[in-house]
Amino acid sequence: METLAPFKEVIDEVLEKGGDAITYCYQCGKCDTVCPWNRVRKFSMRKLIREATFGLSEIEKEEIWRCTTCGKCPQRCPRDVKQINDMIALRRMATGYGVFPAAVKPYRAVSTGLTSQGNPFNEDRSTRADWAEGLSVKPFTEGMEILYFPCCYSSYDPRLKKVAQATARILTKAGVDYGILGSKENCCGESIRKTGNEDVFKKLARENIKTFIDHGVKKILVSSPHCYHTFKNEYPEFRVDFEVIHVSQYVFELLNEGRLTLTKEYGKKVAYHDPCYLGRHNGVYDEPRGVLKKVPGLELHEMPEAREDSLCCGMGGGRVWAETEKHERFSNMRVEQAIELGAQELVTACPYCITALEDSRLVMNHADDIEVKDITEVIQEVME
Ligand code: SF4
Repeated sequence: METLAPFKEVIDEVLEKGGDAITYCYQCGKCDTVCPWNRVRKFSMRKLIREATFGLSEIEKEEIWRCTTCGKCPQRCPRDVKQINDMIALRRMATGYGVFPAAVKPYRAVSTGLTSQGNPFNEDRSTRADWAEGLSVKPFTEGMEILYFPCCYSSYDPRLKKVAQATARILTKAGVDYGILGSKENCCGESIRKTGNEDVFKKLARENIKTFIDHGVKKILVSSPHCYHTFKNEYPEFRVDFEVIHVSQYVFELLNEGRLTLTKEYGKKVAYHDPCYLGRHNGVYDEPRGVLKKVPGLELHEMPEAREDSLCCGMGGGRVWAETEKHERFSNMRVEQAIELGAQELVTACPYCITALEDSRLVMNHADDIEVKDITEVIQEVME
């Protein structure tokens, strides 16, 4: 068993790798009461923090990789322990030692794809803009109002390409002067950073920043809350400051400014799922709801755990690339909550959430009971 060196060395290394306030923990266990893992299996953030503090972290086990960085436990911690930073610091150590337990072995392949092709699927970089075929989307050039950055999932995944296409149709309909960088863009690097691979994150970020600057990009529109968080809150570490806007915010603006008009009746009962990185991490709760409320005939219902209390889909913190047992997926609970609410559609605004919720819908034999949609897919159906 590989166990980290004891006590002070571990604390020093956790702190050096970006961990924070681990020694403040007084073991109250409030973090465990709100952690979604404890609804599907036994898991203790309290124990992980204690083990890190006393140099007992067993980095060959999956536990340090479980945290989805949903942000629920920092909301409750009375000692201001930065659990997310601490888990990422432990992962940086494990990554440094090359220790990857079975469930997170895919991180190696993801890292290879990101390094060689700029995307986690190891898809050919030259096909990154194929989603836009037939939509007359222009390449971004200096002076355009906005760069649309669809993210890797929306560029390559067959289900999520529909989100990028819906977004492009909305932008075109509203007469927005926008373009894409296609094969010139990389993954934003969010998920690989959360797995502890700082080197790959920095490489991706530096290349993206150079491309943005070379092309005169000022304002970036994103589909993914993970890109949003990274461009807005983490790229400034490289002394840049691009204006970043999530598509739910931008569509809300377009509607309020009268640049986009919704006329067709939707006539469906909809529940909205708050993505962790749009809501809890960045406080964007009202705009997506504002957009949905403007859809004619759409009946919006609040989920039992909404806004600050939203239940994580389970895909954050790099878990999107990890193996999670089918019966341990948080998104299963979310789909059941929406069905119990009587919703016909579960609408969200994040490619990771859509992936998880679509998967749960099929795994739980609920394909006929509920549909999962991105907010842009709703809007494209009701545009004038
Ligand atoms: Fe420690 Fe904070 Fe968790 Fe309490 S809530 S056990 S202080 S990390």
